[in-house]
Amino acid sequence: MSQTKYIFVTGGVSSSLGKGIISASLAKLLQARGFKATIQKLDPYINIDPGTLNPYEHGECYVTDDGAETDLDLGHYERFSNVPTSQANNVTTGRIYQSVIDKERKGDYLGSTVQVIPHITDEIKRCIKILGESGKYDFVITEIGGTVGDIESLPYIETVRQMRWELGENCAVIHLTLVPYLAAAGELKTKPTQHSVKTLLEQGVQPDIIVCRTEHSLNEGLRKKIALFCNVSPSAVIESIDAPSIYDVPILMKSEGLDVEVLNKTNTPIKTEPDLANWENFLYKLKHPKHEVNIGLVGKYVELKDAYKSITEAFVHASTSNDCKVNVRMVHSESICGDCIDEHLKGLDGILVAPGFGHRGIEGKISAIKYARENNIPFLGICLGMQCAVIEFARNVLGHKDAHSTEMNPETKYPVIDIMEEQKKISNLGGTMRLGTYQCKIEKGSKLIGIYNTDEIQERHRHRYEFNNAYLEEYKKVGLKPVGINTKNNLVEVVELEQHPWFIGVQFHPEYKSTVANPHPLFVNFVKAALDNKS
Ligand code: GLN
Repeated sequence: MSQTKYIFVTGGVSSSLGKGIISASLAKLLQARGFKATIQKLDPYINIDPGTLNPYEHGECYVTDDGAETDLDLGHYERFSNVPTSQANNVTTGRIYQSVIDKERKGDYLGSTVQVIPHITDEIKRCIKILGESGKYDFVITEIGGTVGDIESLPYIETVRQMRWELGENCAVIHLTLVPYLAAAGELKTKPTQHSVKTLLEQGVQPDIIVCRTEHSLNEGLRKKIALFCNVSPSAVIESIDAPSIYDVPILMKSEGLDVEVLNKTNTPIKTEPDLANWENFLYKLKHPKHEVNIGLVGKYVELKDAYKSITEAFVHASTSNDCKVNVRMVHSESICGDCIDEHLKGLDGILVAPGFGHRGIEGKISAIKYARENNIPFLGICLGMQCAVIEFARNVLGHKDAHSTEMNPETKYPVIDIMEEQKKISNLGGTMRLGTYQCKIEKGSKLIGIYNTDEIQERHRHRYEFNNAYLEEYKKVGLKPVGINTKNNLVEVVELEQHPWFIGVQFHPEYKSTVANPHPLFVNFVKAALDNKS
């Protein structure tokens, strides 16, 4: 398409309605019609990126190939579309202001007063248009974080107003709202939707399409009522009913005609029907598993649904490749103790120790790894999980009793995990870890090479500490083998335990690269090992 079309997705009434999933589903549908689409998230908070945010605040921090620490919605975008995102796909208010203030200091605005309108809104516009002007996309779908009416999101909504005016029919606005069910009245209520559209109108934006999140089906009367009060056609009132899985949403949106509405509103000729055969096949497999396994996810944020989002989704993808349902049992690493370990880990067919930072819960993770190692339970350690496997092995096999990572114990006599050389001089915490994609060479004869089916891989990283090569020979001799190496700087990226059915620790994050179209081979093989272990 010669002209990129810009689609904005705003939210009203409440947060957590699933704007990210609606945006990803729309991208999927457009893609299935042969269009190229990308999704962008604008976050109204003042942090430069979510890299320094606690998972309690914003769930998982997702990492892109180019090393951006981003909102977890970018994970959904990649998992649905199988197209990598980048720094340009996530922008925060902090980043917008930083760049405007930098320009002001350079003298770029010399003589003028720097203001929210036009300087901040122009910068937001620039960040949105970067994607469109790359020439790579027919559609840029921009999700505005937060809820209309929030003070923080005002400059973003104002930018939508301006862009809509400038772009005419090359732009459409989708507003996602909640239609709550009042049990006492036995009715669905449209008033919150009416109010949130009014708030949007006060800010100068008339939505083209209204997506209504609801627990019950919307009847014709309700659709007409919403259409009448919100100045849209009844066909532009789209029902988004609670679905058994997020992966059902593209199919539901197709039957509601969300993509058709978007194409019509942007005056885009409709030539084909979306080809969702592979997606439907995936959903069928997801819903008709032949087997079942129980995998323990040991971490310290297990009470938070979104803290390990990419890992739990990677299990969903891997489950379909194995015709096997994966029940993920969250195990709180702080609750694991010497006497109660059996109670937490018994009956598990596989154990995954999660990534993380800091001391809390570390001993529970190490104990869980010892349990997996001694009981021949398939084990996958990711980032801190891999580092804990190295520590556990040092303490219990190599006999270095107080071995540790210098992150947890800077005074340890056996720093088997240590800070990377280039990290030692860094004092700022934001955006300074080893981030993004790095190449890794796989050893011949390892289990890993069979899993990836190649000896050269690229995976995404997010850490400061590494395997300490001073201990390399000792580990090799006793059977915890470094089987993945970054040959540029000689860093150990993967360890594999000999004499164990399946025991792999990876310094990188395979979960970030697992998608519906490409389930990650490590997860696929780990689930298979869990299944083999079960039988
Ligand atoms: N805290 C560890 C490090 O910085 C591990 C990080 C992680 O698990 N992502 O090296």
